[in-house]
Amino acid sequence: MRLTDHTFREIVSGLESRELSSRDLVNAALDTIRSNADTLNTFIRTAEPERVLARAREFDDARARGETLGPLAGIPTAVKDNISTRGLGTTCGSRMLDGYQPPCDATAVTRLEAAGGIVIGKTNMDEFAMGSSNEHSASGPVRNPWDAARVPGGSSGGSAAAVAAGEAVLALGSDTGGSVRQPAGFCGVVGVKPTYGRVSRYGLVAFASSFDQIGPMARDVEGAAVLLEAIAGGDPADATSLRVPVPDCVTAVTAGVSGLRLGVPEGFLGPDVESDVRERVEQAVSALESAGASVERLTLPSLEHSVAAYYLIADAEASANLARYDGVGFGYRAEADDLDGVFERSRGEGFGLEVKRRIMLGTYALSAGYRDRYYASAQEARRRITEELLGAFDDVDAIVGPVAPTAAFGLGERVCDPLAMYLSDIFTVPANLAGAAAVSVPCGTTPGGLPVGTQVIVNRSCEPVMFAVAGEIERSCGGPLAPPVRGAA
Ligand code: GLN
Repeated sequence: MRLTDHTFREIVSGLESRELSSRDLVNAALDTIRSNADTLNTFIRTAEPERVLARAREFDDARARGETLGPLAGIPTAVKDNISTRGLGTTCGSRMLDGYQPPCDATAVTRLEAAGGIVIGKTNMDEFAMGSSNEHSASGPVRNPWDAARVPGGSSGGSAAAVAAGEAVLALGSDTGGSVRQPAGFCGVVGVKPTYGRVSRYGLVAFASSFDQIGPMARDVEGAAVLLEAIAGGDPADATSLRVPVPDCVTAVTAGVSGLRLGVPEGFLGPDVESDVRERVEQAVSALESAGASVERLTLPSLEHSVAAYYLIADAEASANLARYDGVGFGYRAEADDLDGVFERSRGEGFGLEVKRRIMLGTYALSAGYRDRYYASAQEARRRITEELLGAFDDVDAIVGPVAPTAAFGLGERVCDPLAMYLSDIFTVPANLAGAAAVSVPCGTTPGGLPVGTQVIVNRSCEPVMFAVAGEIERSCGGPLAPPVRGAA
């Protein structure tokens, strides 16, 4: 079997009726991973096949005995390699953490497993989640399953490509400035950035703590909703987690959009957006209108400062968070004659170029004499962007637009041009700055055969509205996408 032949609902009903077994799913995932390993490079590490197959058998046996099982029972799930997994290593795509074994599981992983999910491996990513193309990984770039000459997006490129290629049914990614949504868009899968605090960050390796969120990825909207419900909820181990009941996301998927007010910000469908992408997104917006939503234009002028504000604040936070990798506490350690030499050489050799660039920019932005000019003014911009974006929700229920200005770009195309790379995040960073929730849903392909994602942004804690709009887009755009067949048949 191929995992891409089935919707999430079909997989769950197949398991329940026992037409499918968890072992079938895990075998399909492992076979596909194996046959794609040389081309896609999606996983940094996979779990031992005997171990995951034994776990699958336990679920199959429990089901045969008629036991009530969790919503993800026996479902192979991939986990981004910056989310701690005890016994499965966690390296963040960095030489710095080569061989690192976290002492505990991230809360999201504990919950995923409590719901029955089977972690089949750790996915490739941009080093420390810094990037938009998955080319900044010590384990080499990931390739897009739709076209191996293109990037899968980043930084959760391995998770997105794994789900798209049928190497996992579900995956976890992390989204600091778009890293779940943009690769989901580039690979034709669904990716959610939950409200800030919805999912515990405990065990997520910190990049920019005021933005970081773990988010679900799946081939369809329902799969993403089920996974989000499983991992969400307050956690005493993360003081920034929201200690409120998790809203019903799964039911919302089929609620429809009748009577909802949608807004499209000026500039989201402007000349900077590639025409093939614009056409697909416009079509999705018209479909939402035909399904009973009203659509209006929004003017949100502060949003043009989002990329600048995001990169300043994210780099400032990263420079502080990454100070812990000194070759002494933990991390890659280089030998030198004195302690300063150990720090210098360990950090010099352990970190890749993009991470070093971020640390230097962030340190500069926070340094005495420059702090007010850079960091403080970026915080002021963040405050205004947040006010404007959340203020828009007085008039509309959701904001709709593209996930990125282009479809997946070519490998090597932007890697030497950081500004061009950073600008690919223009539509995703506003939701992170404001702590809002957002999703990327496939809405068709370009004439060249690349998937396009529509983004739906909602107010904090309004995930059900987001899932209702996403569900409608999925139904009106012909359901989940599958890339040209590859891998195990
Ligand atoms: N592309 C953005 C960056 O490089 C976002 C990364 C992320 O969300 N982890 O910072």
